[in-house]
Amino acid sequence: MTQLRLAIVGAGPAGIYAADILLKAERKFNVAIDLFEQLPAPYGLVRYGVAPDHPRIKGIINALRDVLDRGDIRVFGNVRFGEDITLDDLKRHYHAVIFSTGAVRDTTLDLPGIDAEGSYGAADFVSWFDGHPDVPREWPLEAESVAVLGNGNVALDVARMLAKHADDLLPTEIPANVYDGLKASKVTDVHVFGRRGPAQVKFTPLELRELGELHDVDTVVYDEDFDYDQASLDAIASNKQVMVIDRVLQSWRQRPGANGVGGEASRRLHLHFYAKPVEIVADDEGRVSAFRYERTRPDGQGGVVGTGEIREIAIQAMYRAIGYFGSPLPGVPFDERHGVIPNHEGQILRAGSNDVVPGAYTTGWIKRGPVGLIGHTKSDAMETVRHLINDQGSWWQPEDPSEAAIPALLAERGVRYTDLDGWHNLDQHELALGEAEGRVRIKVVERDEMVRVSRAE
Ligand code: NAP
Repeated sequence: MTQLRLAIVGAGPAGIYAADILLKAERKFNVAIDLFEQLPAPYGLVRYGVAPDHPRIKGIINALRDVLDRGDIRVFGNVRFGEDITLDDLKRHYHAVIFSTGAVRDTTLDLPGIDAEGSYGAADFVSWFDGHPDVPREWPLEAESVAVLGNGNVALDVARMLAKHADDLLPTEIPANVYDGLKASKVTDVHVFGRRGPAQVKFTPLELRELGELHDVDTVVYDEDFDYDQASLDAIASNKQVMVIDRVLQSWRQRPGANGVGGEASRRLHLHFYAKPVEIVADDEGRVSAFRYERTRPDGQGGVVGTGEIREIAIQAMYRAIGYFGSPLPGVPFDERHGVIPNHEGQILRAGSNDVVPGAYTTGWIKRGPVGLIGHTKSDAMETVRHLINDQGSWWQPEDPSEAAIPALLAERGVRYTDLDGWHNLDQHELALGEAEGRVRIKVVERDEMVRVSRAE
């Protein structure tokens, strides 16, 4: 039986699910997997994208850890693809590679004023509150009124994290610098803007409902947004998820605070619909001072058209949460328009053609774009793995597929890589830090410290 030596680049859920599926298919062939990750710790988006107050989703880490702990996957963390290890290296030592590097950047938004001081991408803020080692430790939280653009789950994460009182986040795993930053926040009003209506949102009912349960935060909706057209009524009648979302929002119309009247909480989270961004207005010093938007109305088909009515609201910070975008990898084809690796069901294609690149595969958000919940990544990985197994005849012919080659190469290049034992060290360390303060975990944020703890140096 041929032995497949496989490299997977990206140790988030997509890469780990792909490894799991391959190992389960091992009856059919023999496989050895090395998982490369540019961060010192695995789990990608679950560790660095899921909000800290979502322990149920963070819990996916336990299932991913079970896969790694089986002991038949080697992990090489703190290894940057393209720098510490290249595509040529992989071809020399493996039969094939799967790229599962996700999508971690913010989609750009072509809007006047988007570069003003105080205008941020959601991905950067999420990285900050999740303790990503590669973003600054400080986050400016001087604004009293903040706008969040977008009606997806990331917009709700950002709005919730901004509106929530820092002490209500203490039971979670937020890093110490994040707690301190949020504790000093001056925010009183968070305004979420969707360009379409309540029946066209992308966020999910559970995440919406959660906003209504925040301590000392009023959730504010406005009657003018509930004058539904037939397409919206049809969507509510035919789609259970939309029906629940409508029911939740309708119930908030009856609450104190609705329409900006009454309500006693010290903070408010407003949901505005039918608001198409026009401009981020900056003051003389180039700082965000207002958000200008056009009121839209439904077009009868689930879309909207502008009404020509321009409105303005004073804000001091703006977060765009309008979607993530993938990043190119050195030597790997990339579709600049969609931010993905061009592929046919996970087989990488040469840029601008339908020719398959032998030995090179992709899965997860870098394959299909940043949509769908973490669980959707499993079926995605299955599709990719099916092709990989069927393509045995066109795998690479590595010069040196020995187990010792990669650790030797990384050591020779002075790469301080972390491994699975290293992750266990870091995990234990973070749990102990948390326990000392009566918290579940306190994340280590500095990359160097993560590496030191992992390597027990
Ligand atoms: P998303 O679900 O695609 O939502 C993007 C939002 O941005 C949409 O409301 C979209 O409006 C809006 N938008 C896009 N371009 C815009 C523009 N130019 N102007 C104004 N609005 C614009 O993306 P996401 O929120 O980044 O989430 C990515 C995936 O991760 C989703 O599948 C999400 O469910 C998942 N996720 C889940 C959780 C969770 O807690 N369960 C947390 C975070 C993320 P239109 O619909 O009108 O295009």
